[in-house]
Amino acid sequence: MENFQKLALDDTFQFSCHPGIECFNRCCSDLNQFLTPYDILRLKKSLKLSSGEFLKHYTTHHIGPRSGLPVVTLGMLKHKNLSCPFVSKVGCAVYPDRPGSCRIYPLARIIQRRPNQSTCEEFYILIKEPHCLGFEESKEWTVREWKQGQAVDLYDEMNDLLMDIISLKNRSHRKGLTHKENELFYLACYDLDGFRDLVFEKRLWKTHPVEDHSSKDLEQDDVALMRFGIEWIKGRLFGDSSTNHERGS
Ligand code: SF4
Ligand code: SF4
Repeated sequence: MENFQKLALDDTFQFSCHPGIECFNRCCSDLNQFLTPYDILRLKKSLKLSSGEFLKHYTTHHIGPRSGLPVVTLGMLKHKNLSCPFVSKVGCAVYPDRPGSCRIYPLARIIQRRPNQSTCEEFYILIKEPHCLGFEESKEWTVREWKQGQAVDLYDEMNDLLMDIISLKNRSHRKGLTHKENELFYLACYDLDGFRDLVFEKRLWKTHPVEDHSSKDLEQDDVALMRFGIEWIKGRLFGDSSTNHERGS
């Protein structure tokens, strides 16, 4: 852990990354790059693909050994020294929609919920990797300033919704989901366009109402559909309707 330094929002670190730096793009290969549902939403829009096409062409998935839930990983290119499929000579080809972990690097956001505590602890770690020369640059940031510059607020918000599912799963003391449940989780969280088909085929908003969204929102707004999907999966797999109750429905 010597290369990881724990930081709070107003702590500072020294770092800069720019195309002129000698290590430019060196960090964009041989990655174990997990993708969150919101990462996939942004990437499939950026590439003008359906979620199904994006998942098929760019990712693999497995059951996380710790969470027991489906996990999606960005596939690295074996014929190109395991480089990320989106790296180019001039940088990241999906830069405005790059995954949250790429945006916030060299930081990582950690959320910890201790047993028997309702609130979570949030902190950041600074990842100092030997190949990254950005730490030799003189520019100084607070964690808060870095996060603002990388526009990660919505990524954090959506990832926290996913954390709610993981937390519910842990509290349920279930080791794993059934095959069918894993398929539903994958559909509602990752394959958003496939999930939209299910929502409209079964008119799911009738049986799982979400106060803030109409069926038109679910048809037209991917973020609204993702919020609905996460709430639906919480109820469908873990019998949780707390959010609806909190909203008064
Ligand atoms: S290795 Fe570090 S400084 Fe170099 S391109 Fe990657 S993030 Fe930027
Ligand atoms: S998505 Fe972009 S920033 Fe992230 S690893 Fe790939 S090329 Fe690098």
